[in-house]
Amino acid sequence: MNKNVGLIIEKSYNIFKDKTKLKALEPKIIRAGIYGGLPWDCQTTDVVSGCLSFDKVCYANCFVAREAFKKGIAFGARQFNILNKEILKEDLNHIDCNQKFLRNGWNSDPSWNWKTVLELCKLVREKNKHIILNTKFLIPPAKSFMKQFLRLSVEFRVSLSALDKRYAIEQKMDLINEYKKMGGLVIPVLISAKFTEKFLVQKQNDIVKYITENDLPGSEIPLRVYEKSPMIELIDLNMSTKINKTKEIWFGLLYKNELCMPCTSSTSKLYTGLSNNKSSKIDRSYLKKIWVDPFPTHEELKKTNCIRIPEKIGYFQE
Ligand code: SF4
Repeated sequence: MNKNVGLIIEKSYNIFKDKTKLKALEPKIIRAGIYGGLPWDCQTTDVVSGCLSFDKVCYANCFVAREAFKKGIAFGARQFNILNKEILKEDLNHIDCNQKFLRNGWNSDPSWNWKTVLELCKLVREKNKHIILNTKFLIPPAKSFMKQFLRLSVEFRVSLSALDKRYAIEQKMDLINEYKKMGGLVIPVLISAKFTEKFLVQKQNDIVKYITENDLPGSEIPLRVYEKSPMIELIDLNMSTKINKTKEIWFGLLYKNELCMPCTSSTSKLYTGLSNNKSSKIDRSYLKKIWVDPFPTHEELKKTNCIRIPEKIGYFQE
């Protein structure tokens, strides 16, 4: 019988169950780049502070949620952050002119507040920067929003995993296809792992097949699982490497040939999107230029026992 993934996810953060002790985050002013107090010029503050409750955290493995719970923060109590146009415009004026794209979706998900995200995208586009929204489509955008995002050439990067429920995968794929058909650029991002459970291996293979058969420019982020997490029972430990510093298990990139796009943190600051939204039409020499600081592949990890992870992963903004 298949293991109940939902139940394993639910119990993974049980140590933080005593919610009465947790405090909600304060709403923040939405800022951009280093001038705005963020660690990188490509970054914008999330439109919401907080995201999901301890029993719903994505793949029981959100570093941001874990850090928040450890600090006594009620990560599931979302607060709308404040967009002050003048402050944001001033921040945008100070972004390095060689930083050609900005991203949103870092310590939360843009889908919690599409209206504010749209305002943010408009301001970023006024400064002639490309914008990437890293999302799990926790709230699907209405068609009217999709049309406006398209007009602003917004790029969506949508995370998917075999650990998602079937209906969630289908919903994300429908939205991915809809935006692609409209002419928009959308990158499905597989959160990959080596699983012990056959049904998860099959689901992951199905996602990769879907991305390649639909000629989508896919990307990949290897899942990292805390060694004491109940999730470990789903993970093929024989195939893994441990990151000693964080006590996490991971596998490196498993599908570098099939999923050709770098993840956002491995993307050159000169990136301005793609001229075509079909994988087969991407200029491979351009692709080579935009890969920076890549994760090691699974084979490289096995050979060198390399445990380095890019700096832009694992930073919690309180
Ligand atoms: S959507 Fe992102 S920030 Fe929110 S719980 Fe999932 S991984 Fe964490």
